[in-house]
Amino acid sequence: MYKYPEKVLCAKCRSLQSYDFHTERSTRVWNGIRCDFNKRYAVCRKCGERVTVPGLEDHNEEEFDVRFRTENDYILIEEIKDIMCKYDVEKRPLSRVLGLGEHTIENYLNGQLPNKRYSDMLKRVLASYTYMRNALEENRDRINDHAADKIKHKLDFYDAVNSHNSPIETVALYVLNSRYEITNMSLQKLLYYIEAFCQILLDIRIFSSRCEAWTYGPVYPEIYDKFKAFGREQICVDKIDLTNEIGEDCRKVIDYVLSLFGIYNGVTLKDLSHAEDPWKNAHEGYGNRERCEEVITHQAITDYFTKVNKKFDLRTESGVKEYISSLGVI
Ligand SMILES: [Zn+2]
Repeated sequence: MYKYPEKVLCAKCRSLQSYDFHTERSTRVWNGIRCDFNKRYAVCRKCGERVTVPGLEDHNEEEFDVRFRTENDYILIEEIKDIMCKYDVEKRPLSRVLGLGEHTIENYLNGQLPNKRYSDMLKRVLASYTYMRNALEENRDRINDHAADKIKHKLDFYDAVNSHNSPIETVALYVLNSRYEITNMSLQKLLYYIEAFCQILLDIRIFSSRCEAWTYGPVYPEIYDKFKAFGREQICVDKIDLTNEIGEDCRKVIDYVLSLFGIYNGVTLKDLSHAEDPWKNAHEGYGNRERCEEVITHQAITDYFTKVNKKFDLRTESGVKEYISSLGVI
């Protein structure tokens, strides 16, 4: 965020004056492509004449840059920085590993627009660690061992994060591929509701992993550990199509749970689960900040949600919403 001065010199008033911002539609052509954007300008509050505000031109440049790139599907400068962060790589080794000229990434970071082909390649690098792995294999001899090791370390991490060797891992990845922003905290609660709803609506135990009553609600430790490196941040995984790996009935229930619970953040979901018997009973006797690893049994989840289902009819959206509001959290 720019910090603008409170008053600037007005040429007409010949004194420092307060001013207001307005926007106007402006058209520019860049690299042969026309683009409209909202340009900000400032007017003197006293006389209404336009005034110059330091930093405003930079703001407009940035506004135009983002607008142009978004509209024409070019990678953003911020996204190039995301690539460097995602693979723990500096601009020069990144240039080399992608087969670009040594200073190319640096030029892009300074505002040069990549051609469309390179822009698309950079988007793929950001979206897919597999793509980055292939690039590294191809251009391994162009970067030094230290840079290569750092990238490999990240690639191994993404390998682990994107693996799915058990039912719960597959469901977790499916959830993370949904359109919702999901943190490790919200993921745990969503898995818990998915388990409950599959049990109630399909009479299926979708996974048999251990669920524990932690301070922050139900947690599946194996999944929690897998994603804990993301901390409280949104968990990002490569896009993957898992439709053939989860039965259609289960997928429908998962989508249903996500549509009703995925809209809440981790803290709200935690609060909901704290109002429910399975967590409350398992956590009983433990203080607010005391470490608790007591198991929430599958049976406890089934028993509780069977009762809830009888009262609210969880097959209907209105029933689920009524149930959620009955918990008195939202
Ligand atoms: Zn003035």
